Amino acid sequence: MADIQLFGRILISCEVHALTGLHIGGSSTGMEIGGVDNTIIRDPLTNAPYIPGSSLRGKMRSQLEKVLGLPQNNRIGQVTIHTCKKPEEYHRNGGCPVCHIFGVPGEVGATGPTLLLVRDTPLSEGSKKVLAQAHTDLAYTEIKTEVAIDRVTSAANPRILERVPAGAVFAPAELVFSIYQEADFERFKYVVDGLQLLEDDYLGGYGSRGSGKVAFRQISVAARSAQDYSQHHAWQTFSSLKELEAAYADLLRWARGVIQVG
Ligand SMILES: [Zn+2]
Repeated sequence: MADIQLFGRILISCEVHALTGLHIGGSSTGMEIGGVDNTIIRDPLTNAPYIPGSSLRGKMRSQLEKVLGLPQNNRIGQVTIHTCKKPEEYHRNGGCPVCHIFGVPGEVGATGPTLLLVRDTPLSEGSKKVLAQAHTDLAYTEIKTEVAIDRVTSAANPRILERVPAGAVFAPAELVFSIYQEADFERFKYVVDGLQLLEDDYLGGYGSRGSGKVAFRQISVAARSAQDYSQHHAWQTFSSLKELEAAYADLLRWARGVIQVG
């Protein structure tokens, strides 16, 4: 890797609203609660559900890979993702946006730093209170029973699924996008696209059967420049992604004004 200089960061902070029930799977080993075989991930300290940064980031990545038509050629556990396998692929045509933004495995060779970091998003204090008072099936969550019918034998096969109920809000969701070169400003567009693609798809499991529809709200945009890193430059807060997208050209102009490259 050549010399790396960080020129600044674009900081996004927002709320994630569950518009339908949300199931982000946890490990169910040894934690069978009331016969629920599909439990969700929880913060071990508060026992409240949260959205792992890796879930948001992974979904953005896989959606972008699909719209960009990139080969999904790297099997990691149960998922197959796209990875440029050689530095030439990574740098081709101004650079592979997905591998620049989300990173490549170290063994690929001369590439660059990963641009996007996504933090874990806790259940908001407001939703914690509301769900605690609602006396849901399990702490903060509901139990959904789905009956799958075996197409051959017609036998009913119930599946018991834990979900965070529709209406829950997770916040703050934080995305940090680093600028190492001028071209990175243009790459930020893919982050916004990734969020939009995620809204139109789903987060977590069982999306094809209705779970996991989310919306990003109260999206605040800020930046820090390497020249005066202690200075937090807040820009604007948008009520939805649609609003942010409409102001995207202004956002880029503003970010280039705050973060001086070169
Ligand atoms: Zn790539």
